[in-house]
Amino acid sequence: MSKRAMAIVAHCDDIEFGCAGTIATWVRDGYEVMYVICTDSSKGSEDPNIGRDQLVELREAEQRASAKIVGVSEIVFLPYADGDLRDDDSLRRDLCRLIRSWKPERVITFDPSMRWSPGGYVNHPDHIAVGNAALTAVYPFARNRPTYPELLAEGLEPFTVSELWMYSFGDPNRWVDISSTIDLKIAALRAHASQMKTWDPEPMVRAWAKRGGAGQLIDAAETFRVLKLD
Ligand SMILES: [Zn+2]
Repeated sequence: MSKRAMAIVAHCDDIEFGCAGTIATWVRDGYEVMYVICTDSSKGSEDPNIGRDQLVELREAEQRASAKIVGVSEIVFLPYADGDLRDDDSLRRDLCRLIRSWKPERVITFDPSMRWSPGGYVNHPDHIAVGNAALTAVYPFARNRPTYPELLAEGLEPFTVSELWMYSFGDPNRWVDISSTIDLKIAALRAHASQMKTWDPEPMVRAWAKRGGAGQLIDAAETFRVLKLD
């Protein structure tokens, strides 16, 4: 079986801001990657002239185009409401189901302990909810036989994820060199045209990547806290 990974996030464009450069290196290394977008991304516009359904459709199309740029074609869109994501039984079960069926060696998600950063960033509550639910799904529920017997009834046996990767804002233990994939990351971000509007993400992305590589002799990096779980 080929190597597999899964990225679990709240909104369309979360992966591109946080880890698309790393995902592109994984794809290059032979990983099959699945994206799981947990909300409908329906609050991602201030435009009074775009309807909710129209926005949901547009953002899914942008996410598919963005994923394609880094070589990812497996995307699951869960239907939870943007801005109201809860770390509850329903989301945990959905994530367990996906983990048991896709069988990713690596899962990448938000660090749920991050509420804000000294640089002036307040983390979105959906990011915290998805991080919490993903961590719980990875450990212990996806690997625990008695949890969710309905998944066993669906033929989904327990599965152990080997590595948990969390976006890190200030305390990384892993710097991934994305100097060969940063152009793909920028192109993948630009595919979210409804979010970028006239803003060019390139200068900020390049500046972030340099900061991420500080002291590591890496020109461009994404940073993570990685836990080995087995
Ligand atoms: Zn988000």
